[in-house]
Amino acid sequence: MRWPPLRRSLIVRLVGWSLLLLLIVQVAGFVVVRASIDRNARAQIARALDLDDNVWQQLLAQNASQLRQGSALLAADYGFRSAVSSGDTETIQSVLENHGSRIGASIVVLLDTGLALRAASLSGRMDGFTAALQRVVPPLAAQPQGSQIAVIDGIPYQFVMVPMRAPVLMGWVLMGFAVDQARADEMHRLLAVDVALRVTDAAGTVTVPVSTLPAAALALLQRQGAVAGELQTPQGTLLVRASALGDVDPDGAHAAQGAGSVQALLLRSVDEVVAPYRQLQLLLASITVAGVLLFALGAGVMARRLTTPLRSLLAATQNLSRGDYSVALAHTDRSDEIGNLARSFDRMRIDIAAQQMQVRNLAYGDRLTGLPNRERFRQTVQEAMATGDPQGVGLAVLTLDLDRFKHVNDVLGYAFGDQLLQAVAERLRNCLQAPDDMVARLGGNSFALLLQHTNAAGALAQAQGITQAFEQPLALDEQTVDLSAGIGIACWPADASDADTLLSRSEIAMYAAKRRLDGAQRYDPAFDLASTQTLSLLTELRRAVEHDELRLYLQPKVPLQGGMGTAAEALVRWQHPERGLVPPMDFIPFAEQTGFVRQLTLWMFNAAARVLADERVRSTGLRISVNLSTRDLMDPLLCTRLADLLERHGVLASAFCLEITESAIMDDPQRAEAMLNSLSQQGFKLSIDDFGTGYSSLGYLKRLPVDELKIDKSFVMGMQTDTDDATIVRSTIDLAHNLGLSVVAEGVENAAVLAQLRALACDEAQGYHISRPLPVDAFLAWHAPKA
Ligand code: C2E
Ligand code: CA
Ligand code: CA
Repeated sequence: MRWPPLRRSLIVRLVGWSLLLLLIVQVAGFVVVRASIDRNARAQIARALDLDDNVWQQLLAQNASQLRQGSALLAADYGFRSAVSSGDTETIQSVLENHGSRIGASIVVLLDTGLALRAASLSGRMDGFTAALQRVVPPLAAQPQGSQIAVIDGIPYQFVMVPMRAPVLMGWVLMGFAVDQARADEMHRLLAVDVALRVTDAAGTVTVPVSTLPAAALALLQRQGAVAGELQTPQGTLLVRASALGDVDPDGAHAAQGAGSVQALLLRSVDEVVAPYRQLQLLLASITVAGVLLFALGAGVMARRLTTPLRSLLAATQNLSRGDYSVALAHTDRSDEIGNLARSFDRMRIDIAAQQMQVRNLAYGDRLTGLPNRERFRQTVQEAMATGDPQGVGLAVLTLDLDRFKHVNDVLGYAFGDQLLQAVAERLRNCLQAPDDMVARLGGNSFALLLQHTNAAGALAQAQGITQAFEQPLALDEQTVDLSAGIGIACWPADASDADTLLSRSEIAMYAAKRRLDGAQRYDPAFDLASTQTLSLLTELRRAVEHDELRLYLQPKVPLQGGMGTAAEALVRWQHPERGLVPPMDFIPFAEQTGFVRQLTLWMFNAAARVLADERVRSTGLRISVNLSTRDLMDPLLCTRLADLLERHGVLASAFCLEITESAIMDDPQRAEAMLNSLSQQGFKLSIDDFGTGYSSLGYLKRLPVDELKIDKSFVMGMQTDTDDATIVRSTIDLAHNLGLSVVAEGVENAAVLAQLRALACDEAQGYHISRPLPVDAFLAWHAPKA
């Protein structure tokens, strides 16, 4: 398992969500506060603008009233009056100018009673002057208490008009007053409100002649068609209060109509009002940001403190799931929840390890011997191969299979068999040399050894060591048992590239060793070949019988103590069309395996009977020994088949001796015993062949209807050199005689042994020293002179 990606980890999610919620709350608060600040600010500005507006109106009204007083003063001036009545234009003109400049009027005009212009004083050249006059005079005449606004050359002027009476109306004094920058500046100074006058002429062109606004806002004003509510300038939002300038005259609304209009704009910046609050909010926001950062930092540290142990716990559970129970958990010494978790995990680990151990022992162990079982062995070989160096020494697998184990079980009981296996396991364990070598029980009576860092020579040496260890007979329950086993050796990398093949090849070698009665056998590809050739060999053997390729050879058995007459053992040979004369060891084991040996036995018996029926032999009293195999003893029809052949050739059963090996009897002692009884009753003599190589004890053989013991040639051949062998031969002869059995020694290869045997009172001898097995005619020739 891999770590969960960071974004999916529990801690990160927890912290992430907390942060997000915190941020949402903070942002929502921020927005709400900001909106309400804004709203409040606007309300506050609106109130201020109300006031501003009032003041502005007041200012204009005050101006108008000052202007009107000035006009009234002029109208009442005696000198002026006389000049007007006398028509002294020059005086009139200078009075108008003086008076106008004194009271700061931009325009001072004298109108006659018919409202026509008589004289005027202007502060400069004014092109629109007459037109303006025409517009303002009629309404002022109708409403002398009011004031009027008119635009001249783009600048708005406030006009008042006062009649001149003495007491009859002599004319009118009209005064104009520029609503100029000074007024606006005054407002601005007084109330900190921005003022702008927006003049729209008849053609719709907008000018702003007076303004306290910065240039950018001014430009905006000039560009915009109408201004209402608010104005967005680069410096911020301005709330605008607009009023038509004509409004100063309560009755003469829209006095400037027709020739355009003048708007007085009062502007206040929202941002200015909001600014202190903004500062506060900014402070709050930075506190929030700092808080979030601190929280994230704290959460991160917490998360690390939490996730580090969690991750190590996770790693530990991954170890467990991989089957590694050896690593103790960390953090078990903590006193918090993590510690609890770690402790209970650790207990779990120990429990599982114990259970696993039990399961392993059950699954991979052999209960009887305590050795690893086949599966465990196989795995260990696999692992050794995986880690081993194919270029190096390599390793070897030895398999071994106890000989005649089934017989031990049958004769001495299963409990004894179990003890025997345990004892064998112990011996094999003692044979191990290197610490990483291994012995296992593959099942039944077969065992295997894994020898690591061993080549073929080393394995063979060790196999010989095992054979030697087995030579020591095993004493169990007052029984002495001879151990023997076939040992197969297969080496890696030479013999196989994988564990299974190595094991099965080692077993193939082991079977070959057993077949050849050879202690240890290294695997040879020919064994495999042999098994593939099995089928064709069987066909060939059948053909051998049909085409009469089998040959009967006879090997003489001579009496040593006189009186018995000559005998012979019938030994088979195969005259193969291509391979020549094939020795029996090359096909008898195979014939036994396949059961074909039963036909072979009958062929031999038939051939031997024919010899006995021969005229030249009948009188000599020749006895012929025929070898029987396990398979023959299992054949319930053997007795009748032999009886048929005896009858066909007209020979007596007593002319035959049937040789049965110890192992053939021990394969199935009960059935063998029944069969031997029947054969004995039929009149056949019975002989135990290869005596001394198996488990059978003389005590057991006593029960069988046996006439003869054949001491195995290995003892006889070793008599001269090996005192043990000589002892065995001597005691076997004595014991056999005590039991009333005659004794044959086979494998007599020289005169000395022959003499020794004679001295030991052995009854008969067979061996190359006397004669090799001979074809029938040769045997008859050998036989004849003595007959
Ligand atoms: P076996 O029954 O023990 O036969 C004796 C073997 O010892 C024969 O080998 C014989 O040639 C050999 N031998 C005799 N004298 C000497 C000696 O002085 N020195 C040595 N080294 N060997 C000696 P052979 O003929 O090769 O037969 C081998 C085995 O084949 C026999 O052992 C027997 O088990 C089996 N066999 C042979 N013919 C038959 C048969 O017709 N039927 C059955 N079932 N088995 C047979
Ligand atoms: Ca024999
Ligand atoms: Ca023999």
